[in-house]
Amino acid sequence: MAADNVLEIKNLHTYFYMDDGVVKAVDGVDVELRRGKTLGIVGESGSGKSVTSLSVMGLLTGTKGKIAEGEILLDGQDLVKLSEEEKRKIRGNRISMIFQEPMTSLNPVMKIGAQIVECVLQHENISKKEAYKKAEEMLRMTGVPRVEHMMKEYPFQLSGGQRQRVMIAMALVCKPEILIADEPTTALDVTIQAQILDLMNQLKKETGTSILFITHDLGVVAEICDDVAVMYCGRVVEKGDVKSIFAKPSHPYTQGLLNSIPHLGDDGKELQSIPGNVPNPKYMPEGCKFAARCPYASDRCRKEEPPFFSVDENHISRCWLCEDGKAAGAGKEEGGI
Ligand code: SF4
Repeated sequence: MAADNVLEIKNLHTYFYMDDGVVKAVDGVDVELRRGKTLGIVGESGSGKSVTSLSVMGLLTGTKGKIAEGEILLDGQDLVKLSEEEKRKIRGNRISMIFQEPMTSLNPVMKIGAQIVECVLQHENISKKEAYKKAEEMLRMTGVPRVEHMMKEYPFQLSGGQRQRVMIAMALVCKPEILIADEPTTALDVTIQAQILDLMNQLKKETGTSILFITHDLGVVAEICDDVAVMYCGRVVEKGDVKSIFAKPSHPYTQGLLNSIPHLGDDGKELQSIPGNVPNPKYMPEGCKFAARCPYASDRCRKEEPPFFSVDENHISRCWLCEDGKAAGAGKEEGGI
């Protein structure tokens, strides 16, 4: 495992064993999260991005999902091989997670202060008084006003943005090595979304926590990520550092995602959506899984699945059009934000 990677996911296959067949939600994913950096995993719903994060957190228990193959290396330790008890110790301590809707994770009948204190006490052997102080400090770092007052409030008394800040405080109070953020700003309005992204950027610098950021929105990726992996049908189809991906989006799916977000100066220009739908995971087509929606699809694409081709240093794409080193859609408009 490379020393500057805190997390390496290798050849991960997470399958759901349903009564009427097997759904290969994650089908051979390889991604790396660099220490102190943010990796964005991007894709539409059904791409496998959230199942990848749940696999890392060991949160598939109680579902029909199972890791069928692969490794999830946290500083070289394979999380797939750990017992439930060992995984529970890692959650919250070394890896924390925040979700789209904080109300589903906060206890509605417990005061905010008590919930953060409980988190601290679960992971640290300190007094209640010290834990309360620590909780207050962390909440202050997230920029909420009237911290002493908020510690005594219940979740329903807070706005959506404030609740998300509380979740971030709870996730970071034990200084995890990795924060997994699954669409943490999707339910918020645009100005609050920008504030939460700023906050995550700032806390990443202050605490050194590495972030795995799950989103469907490449605009958000541009704001917060250092590296990106674009997922489609349970596979990574393009990955690389954020500057290279935005300067030279080389997979037609990435290009489609970029064309569907507004750019400054696009006044009057119609946004394009990607035609068609993600294939039914129970009946995956042969060849490139994007072929039915791709404007460049050839007979070869429909028969043979492409491997990864190099686009640039630290930038690869799983598309036949990149085979000769030329990016797909070369000569077309670039997708920078
Ligand atoms: Fe499109 Fe073919 Fe590239 Fe798949 S391999 S994305 S179908 S051009």
